[in-house]
Amino acid sequence: MPNSKTVSDYIRAIPDFPHEGIIFRDVTTLFSDPRGFRMAVDQLVHPFVGQRIDKVVGLEARGFILGGAVAHQLSVGFVPVRKQGKLPGDVLSEAYTLEYGKAVVEIHTDAIQPGERVLVVDDLLATGGTATAGIKLIERLGGEITGCAFVVDLPELGGRKRLEELGMSVHTLCE
Ligand code: 5GP
Repeated sequence: MPNSKTVSDYIRAIPDFPHEGIIFRDVTTLFSDPRGFRMAVDQLVHPFVGQRIDKVVGLEARGFILGGAVAHQLSVGFVPVRKQGKLPGDVLSEAYTLEYGKAVVEIHTDAIQPGERVLVVDDLLATGGTATAGIKLIERLGGEITGCAFVVDLPELGGRKRLEELGMSVHTLCE
C-alpha cells in the first residue's frame, strides 16, 4: 500500500514533559514504525550519498539509534558522543550550557583519526548546544565535519543558525 505519510506524521508532541510548559517531540513513535524509521534513515542519508564520509558520530541518546542505522547504510563506522562518565577509555570532554546549568559530553580519544570526514547525527536540533559540543570534540581530534543531520529542527531556538555560523552544513527533515 502506498504511504502518504511524512516523517513528521510519526512524531508526537507530549505537553509538559519533562517540565511544565515544555512540549516534548517524542520520536519513539517514529522509531517503532517500520516505514517511519526506514523513511527517516533514508532521508537523513540522502544528501550525503556520494560524499566522502569515514565515520558517523551519534549524540546520546537518540542519536545512537539513528546514527547507528545511518552508519550501517553508509557502510562506515559509528562513534558515540556520550554524557560524562559513560565511556570506559581515554576521553576528551567538552562542557556546554543548558537552560538550567551545565552538561559535559565526551568522546574516546582514539575514535576519530585526523583528516577523517564525519557526519553528525541526532534526533532533534533545538539551541544547538549539544551538537556544537559534539562538533568541538570531533574537531579537537582533527576530524572534519561533512555535515550535521537531524530529524527535527526547532528553528525558533536558533540551533541551525548557530551551526551554520560555525560553517556547518545542516540537514533536517521537518520543523
Ligand atoms: P539542544 O542542545 O540543541 O538545545 O537540544 C537538543 C538535544 O536535546 C538533543 O540531543 C535532543 O535529543 C534533546 N532534546 C531537546 N528537546 C527535545 C525534544 O522535544 N524531543 C526530543 N526527542 N529530544 C529533545
